[in-house]
Amino acid sequence: MMRILIIEDEKKTASFLHKGLTESGFVVERSGNGEDGLFLASTEQFDVIILDIMLPRLDGWSVLEALRYRHIETPVLFLTACDLVDDRVKGLELGADDYLVKPFAFAELLARVRTLLRRNPERQLSIAHIEDLKIDPVRHRAERGGKRLNLRPKEFALLLLFVRRAGEVLTRTLIAEQVWDMNFDSDTNVVDVTVRRLRSKVDDPFEKKLIRTIRGVGYVMEEG
Ligand code: CA
Repeated sequence: MMRILIIEDEKKTASFLHKGLTESGFVVERSGNGEDGLFLASTEQFDVIILDIMLPRLDGWSVLEALRYRHIETPVLFLTACDLVDDRVKGLELGADDYLVKPFAFAELLARVRTLLRRNPERQLSIAHIEDLKIDPVRHRAERGGKRLNLRPKEFALLLLFVRRAGEVLTRTLIAEQVWDMNFDSDTNVVDVTVRRLRSKVDDPFEKKLIRTIRGVGYVMEEG
């Protein structure tokens, strides 16, 4: 499940992108100003960020600069109304991965997004591991101690999140957002149920437990 963040204040463009990308199978989040966009991009994981330049509160240049300063290397596709060579150069120098001049055809944007996803395969598609647990996102396989784990899709997505963010305490809300792409403000029971099922496969048969409960907060995956 690839997640895309759109930071764009023009409602028409934002809805057009949202609709097209959702129909193409992406999970899409939107932000209408630079400040909120930067916050989202810094606190959640995205595979690509589509970033407008002229934005309220914080412009696209500053958002990109702040992201790279914080070592957030999510690929960024700039949307620019200004077809000026200087602007393009500035964007690329600040660490943008590509840019598209408005107005553009959706097909072209989609092609650029797909290229960015392919260009950064090591980040999203590499095999992640902790202790004797290995997870291969491309082949959708997980194994522990050399034995394949039989996981349902949500269990797999949850395990991938745990491994990628090992050592970090993940709240139920964050897990709900990342794995289900929903806000479970009132009921995060689904998270606990899935964690329990995942534990029965990943931890119960093994001596070393990797998933720890942080009471009242959430969960953390740690080396034993
Ligand atoms: Ca704008």
